[in-house]
Amino acid sequence: MRWLWTLLCLSVLQAARSEDYANNTSIQLFQQYVQINTTTNNDLTPAVEFWTTQAADAGVEMTVLNFTEGYPVIVLKWPGTNSSLSSIMLNSHMDVVPASESDGWTYPPFSAYLDDEGVIWGRGTQDMKSVSIQYLEALKKLKADNVTLLRDVYMTLMPDEETGAANGMQLFVKSDEFAAMNVGLELDEGTSYALPYGAIFYQDKSPWQIQIDCYGTSTHSSQFPATNNTATGMCRNVINKFLEFRDAEYVKYQAVGILNAGNYTSVNLNKLNGGTANNIIPSHVSLVFDIRLNITINETLFEAQLNEWITEAAAGGNVTLTFLQKDAQTPATVITADNPYYTTFVSVCQQQNLTVVPLVPPGATDARYIRAAGYPAFGFSPMPNTELLLHSPNERLNATTFLTGIDIYIALIKNLANLSGDEISADPSSYIVKTAG
Ligand SMILES: [Zn+2]
Repeated sequence: MRWLWTLLCLSVLQAARSEDYANNTSIQLFQQYVQINTTTNNDLTPAVEFWTTQAADAGVEMTVLNFTEGYPVIVLKWPGTNSSLSSIMLNSHMDVVPASESDGWTYPPFSAYLDDEGVIWGRGTQDMKSVSIQYLEALKKLKADNVTLLRDVYMTLMPDEETGAANGMQLFVKSDEFAAMNVGLELDEGTSYALPYGAIFYQDKSPWQIQIDCYGTSTHSSQFPATNNTATGMCRNVINKFLEFRDAEYVKYQAVGILNAGNYTSVNLNKLNGGTANNIIPSHVSLVFDIRLNITINETLFEAQLNEWITEAAAGGNVTLTFLQKDAQTPATVITADNPYYTTFVSVCQQQNLTVVPLVPPGATDARYIRAAGYPAFGFSPMPNTELLLHSPNERLNATTFLTGIDIYIALIKNLANLSGDEISADPSSYIVKTAG
């Protein structure tokens, strides 16, 4: 019977802990925010209302910028004691990728369900509504405890990170409002790792998306034109060129692993379109490749290489290359002792029992626009020992991890916003460096 007693004790304990979580106001706020369905292209008015309430409760000034109608950019300001110093910008995005219950969610994706084991389920729990609420709760706690911050701290909330930020961060960094913030350092999103440490992103890979159109002889399918004269034949040649390159990069990827994603160029063929009827040789076939560049690649030479492959694949026929997206490579944030933001960040996390390692993620975040504009930025989401479920069904976060993250931000904000004018250069660009050839 002892096992039964132990089991009973454990489940009573678990239920008690879950109840504690259910009554925790930070968790309740996190749940409320996840419950606002901010899927790409949804109306963000409910999210703006949520942040309006939060700003009023915290007693801070909030500005809503509408560079494009329907894409609000929100700025909350926590004034420091010396606003002439550069500020700390805590950025997050409001939008989330789509989630449908039919994709196999255990609990509805916008329920923010808190289970008996203290796990909060829902789209955005990792990417990245947890971080937005952690920033807010940390800042509220610092204010409640009368902790003085030297530098101004801003929370910014973007509307469209998941779709490339054309109406959000890309316009915001060029705005007068951003310039007036006098940013010294930006914090942005990181990711979860099923490892006992945290990652600090210091650079993003540049995404290139290219469409390749192959045009050839179109005729009745009883005919038999030379392979290289057909759209599909040229398409085959193009695919061979790109996939040979992909194979070579895949070898590099296997050698260095996803934790060194900056060291290889990923290539994926994501769309193949063509054909009109089962018995007609198509005149046109198109391909879309998504490429994420190695951080040290020379873009000019790489583009020349792509064009050479296209010319060879066309074999005298007609193949065209169009860039759907071509982001320039952006600088890296300095991750040496020369950057006090970096050393402070790492040592503060260490004091909070979290070892952080500098990484380049396989994807890209809004932070790349900040670095491109000349400011240092770190990507960080305090989610160690957490299965990576960004953009996946059953995205979820352990409540303890979430609450520990608030404490980490309390320490980070307090230390970063209190770096003195003597410790930090007035020129933020001195903390970024170009890595590409
Ligand atoms: Zn994200």
